[in-house]
Amino acid sequence: MTIGVLALQGDFREHLEALARLGVAGRNVRTPEDVAACDALILPGGESTTIGKLLVRFGVDDAIRELHAQGKPLFGTCAGAILLCREVLEGDVDKLGLLDARIARNAYGRQIDSFEADLDIAPLEGGAYRAVFIRAPRFAAVGDGVEVLAANGEEPVLVRQGNLVAGTFHPELTNDDRVHAWFCSLAG
Ligand code: GLN
Repeated sequence: MTIGVLALQGDFREHLEALARLGVAGRNVRTPEDVAACDALILPGGESTTIGKLLVRFGVDDAIRELHAQGKPLFGTCAGAILLCREVLEGDVDKLGLLDARIARNAYGRQIDSFEADLDIAPLEGGAYRAVFIRAPRFAAVGDGVEVLAANGEEPVLVRQGNLVAGTFHPELTNDDRVHAWFCSLAG
């Protein structure tokens, strides 16, 4: 099983390190051929406007849509979550538009643009998960077919629609690899 990590911009190295800690084969993804070689794909945090432009420039956007159409799991974290959504509030983002959700970028304001929170993540065992949020987006609305796996107060922070998973925090920036392990289990 090979889990791809989109490596156009952002903190893809940390995702690859998390996969390595789990003993899962990770692969940098930069081309449509790279995408096609993956059983699942992680879209990392970074700058969604930049990653979106690069996706289009290298033709990787259509390759990811094709991977999704084949039923392979996709996991977007932070900027990656923004790219998965159907509707993005603020900014002109070249999004994939696969997840039935509306998301607002940089929605927590400057004074708390980074914070941590303990989450109860439905599919995880072993107690609370300490999540790191950095200039995080906020889900403004999610469709009926979207399951909320974790919320921070009232706000969804990890959601799932079939084989699409999107989180507004950074599971790659902690040493608690349970979220990655769970995502890898979706890939088989
Ligand atoms: N603020 C970034 C964006 O809008 C996302 C932040 C992140 O990925 N840490 O793309």
